[in-house]
Amino acid sequence: MHVSVVGSGYVGTTLSVCLAELGHDVVAIDVDEETVTQLNDGEAPIHEPGLDALLETHVGSRLRATTEHAAVVDTDVTFLAVGTPSNEDGSIDANGLVAAARDVGGAIEGKDDDHLVVVKSTVLPDVIDERIVPAIEDASGASDGEGFTLAINPEFLREGTAIDDFMAPDRIVIGTDDDGTAAERLTELYEPLTAERATPIVETGRREASMIKYASNAFLASKVSLINDIGNVCKEFGVDAYEVAEAMGMDERIGSAFLRSGVGWGGSCFPKDTAALIQSARTTGYDPAMIEAAVEINDRQPERLLEFLDGHVDVTGERVAVLGLAFKPGTDDIRGTRAVPVIEGLLERGADVVAYDPLANDAMAELFPDVDYVDTPEAALEGAVGACVVTDWPEFAELDAAFDAMATPVVVDGRRIVSRRDGIVYEGLTW
Ligand code: NAD
Repeated sequence: MHVSVVGSGYVGTTLSVCLAELGHDVVAIDVDEETVTQLNDGEAPIHEPGLDALLETHVGSRLRATTEHAAVVDTDVTFLAVGTPSNEDGSIDANGLVAAARDVGGAIEGKDDDHLVVVKSTVLPDVIDERIVPAIEDASGASDGEGFTLAINPEFLREGTAIDDFMAPDRIVIGTDDDGTAAERLTELYEPLTAERATPIVETGRREASMIKYASNAFLASKVSLINDIGNVCKEFGVDAYEVAEAMGMDERIGSAFLRSGVGWGGSCFPKDTAALIQSARTTGYDPAMIEAAVEINDRQPERLLEFLDGHVDVTGERVAVLGLAFKPGTDDIRGTRAVPVIEGLLERGADVVAYDPLANDAMAELFPDVDYVDTPEAALEGAVGACVVTDWPEFAELDAAFDAMATPVVVDGRRIVSRRDGIVYEGLTW
């Protein structure tokens, strides 16, 4: 099939290269010229394992990039994969997505055959009905169901394993409100992927499809917050929350995924999706108490980590290492990372922060230009009175003698990644 993908960030780029890998002809569209140039040069605009190799294979043959939304007209299907960040009040800032929808509408104006527009971005049902559909209708002169069809196909990939997740999804959710043609076309698009693995396709309504994404993220975020809450209680009782969680996870009603307690969740999705769900629920008069509690517990964890550090050392005027800045290992993304409140808390205490991340130093330097960024964890630890471990990069498990170069070897581990225990003051957040 001929496919256009509007937005070449984490989701759009992954989608573009993977659809090319599945055998489709793909044009990636982005407003950012640098992103487009990078893609056409075969360079990934984001860091994702496996992305470079797929780009190298397909750029110039089945994949190209452009800043021109007009390219949409030569394709059968257009995915919208533009960012949907949060407004101050937690609601979604859908302006970028609406602008993209308008551009797509303009491009298909006068097109003879029915164009399939698929929303990949995470967006609430009302935003689709009240803003996305009208934007396409206004710009195209066509109407929903006549001239174009809109489908919702939420994305569940995780940064750091985006390619693998896309290629081996647990399920594909297709939300449509037409006579079934749109779902058929999308099923055909994904056929090379589903045939190989017998991936279930969930066909549902558009509003349900968009809510499945929010509900999944709210559930996962709440699961982590619940194990963090339990972990905090365990710590108070001198109990190792990881031993507790291991046995809990053997209960198939609970499951072992997302039971690693620590300094909390972040990223580009959980914080903004829980915020949007809470904000939109409140506008109906409903108070989503569980999801609010999940956010509150998450907000507390970084300060809890710093309080453990305070318990061992006064950091005022002292050098403190922050190990890990990305919101999770395997990515350079710092959106929603717990490293931000940890660094803020250290700066409030008057500490000299020295930070290390294998991928995210540059991104964090834009937020905190005065922090000292170093190229190795060893350089971060040297002379520090304390270290806060925020991201579970595997290399932190290997640190051993590096702790001996600290002024006082106090290590507060927010991810249970450091393996050394002897000869240092080691404090686990929930163990
Ligand atoms: P991103 O910020 O990484 O990328 C968005 C891209 O869209 C940018 O490159 C930007 O330049 C481009 N863009 C903005 N306006 C545009 C326009 N009018 N036309 C063309 N391009 C435009 O965002 P992301 O992380 O890829 O997320 C995209 C959507 O997918 C969001 O709704 C997000 O919630 C959802 N999602 C993200 C993830 C994830 O792990 N990042 C996972 C699942 C779903």
